[in-house]
Amino acid sequence: MSEVRQRKKVAKKESSTEDEFEYEDTMTKPHAVPIVVANQDHSFQLDEEALKKVLLRDELKDRYVVVVSVAGAFRHGKSFLLDFFLRYMNAKILKQNTSEWIGAEEAPLEGFSWKGGSERDTTGILMWSEVFTAELNTGEKVAVILLDTQGTWDSKSTVKECATIFALSTMLSSVQIYNLSSNIQEDDLQHLQLFTEYGRLALADSGTTPFQRLQFLVRDWRFPYEAPYGAVGGQQILEKRLEINEHQHSELQSLRKHIRSCFTEIACFLMPHPGIKVATSPTFDGRLGEIDSEFKDNLKILVPMLLAPENLVLKKINGEKVKVRDFVQYCNSYMKIYEGNELPEPKSMLVATAEANNLAAVADAKESYITLMEEVCGGTKPYLNTETMEVEHRRVRDKAIFQFDSKKKMGGEEFSRIYKEQLEKDIEESFIQFKAHNESKNIFKSARTPAVFFAVAVI
Ligand code: GDP
Ligand code: MG
Repeated sequence: MSEVRQRKKVAKKESSTEDEFEYEDTMTKPHAVPIVVANQDHSFQLDEEALKKVLLRDELKDRYVVVVSVAGAFRHGKSFLLDFFLRYMNAKILKQNTSEWIGAEEAPLEGFSWKGGSERDTTGILMWSEVFTAELNTGEKVAVILLDTQGTWDSKSTVKECATIFALSTMLSSVQIYNLSSNIQEDDLQHLQLFTEYGRLALADSGTTPFQRLQFLVRDWRFPYEAPYGAVGGQQILEKRLEINEHQHSELQSLRKHIRSCFTEIACFLMPHPGIKVATSPTFDGRLGEIDSEFKDNLKILVPMLLAPENLVLKKINGEKVKVRDFVQYCNSYMKIYEGNELPEPKSMLVATAEANNLAAVADAKESYITLMEEVCGGTKPYLNTETMEVEHRRVRDKAIFQFDSKKKMGGEEFSRIYKEQLEKDIEESFIQFKAHNESKNIFKSARTPAVFFAVAVI
């Protein structure tokens, strides 16, 4: 990150056309982009421009998204892990032999900034500027977005900030990796409370599980004789922690009962300690040569388990797959409910989701209208008479509205009504433009005007 910033500053000094230069610089070197940033008063803001710059590219817009996020307390190797994700995804792009993705022994580990010593990172969400593309076994082409989260959980105000970041990143991801140190503790489970409530409401509204995969990742697991490293040991620990018994307080019981209903899949992976150099050496630069082999062996299992094409999990909201461009809409709607200082009520999370999927349905239907009308009377098509235009407009409009109606949305019919009205209004406005454009192709009309002028001039 700091490297990118420095490069930008140099570029600005030397270049007279600053914007162009900065854009080129950003394009050449992939980097972490802060998309959710904390304000001084501990509220948050979405950097929509930055988000759009990363996502709204022609080759990505219509792909379905896979969003992998890593969340959890500060200084437990989240960004470090993500940099191995980057190595894996980059190796895939280059179609390298799968076993070699982990990299060279001496190569420093780069990507999301992971060291930083005692310097404090600000709270927020970072998105990798390079969105990876992949093809699922089904042949479906997807976009893989990687999210890093930052937070410290060390004072009252920052705990609230971190809870917000945790909540927001869970809502945005299809795989939330919950990174924990040494074990799964009771308060780690309590951070999931908000979702269990939301999950119940969402389930009641739509009948679908709101989130996809929750992957607990326990770092520095110290009891391999009790439960072995990896996914099998992780499952054992997870079962124990989510177990319900009558000695538990009723709140703890219900928390456990409901956590499962919020995620389609919950898994846990136990990671060994990476070795003393990784944990303590100030000069350690991430090279594999200085990482314990047991840690590396487990990385080689964990990373493909999350990112191999056959294991990618599509982001679904309300049971529907989400396209990259709709994802931008969801970021916007979700961010609105987290803008204040307080954590939102589960009810408002539901309303925001309903709003976003209605807006996404409006955008899709409107796009269909425009695409179909372009086919009828777009730039290269000949002039159509007014009546044909009207007939075609009504046919295409009805199709678009039918598409909106048939899309599964949350919030009920009443809630959708204003969005449907908005769609109808937008379509009418587009039609006015199509009509005007069509008229401009009418050679008879445009030829008549100078003729009248000429006649007047002669008289
Ligand atoms: P983040 O704040 O969670 O993103 O943590 P970072 O990725 O910046 O890593 C913080 C420090 O933890 C770095 O000095 C890493 O070398 C070290 N580290 C990375 N992975 C592990 C791990 O699995 N266990 C331990 N003990 N340290 C780790
Ligand atoms: Mg970090």
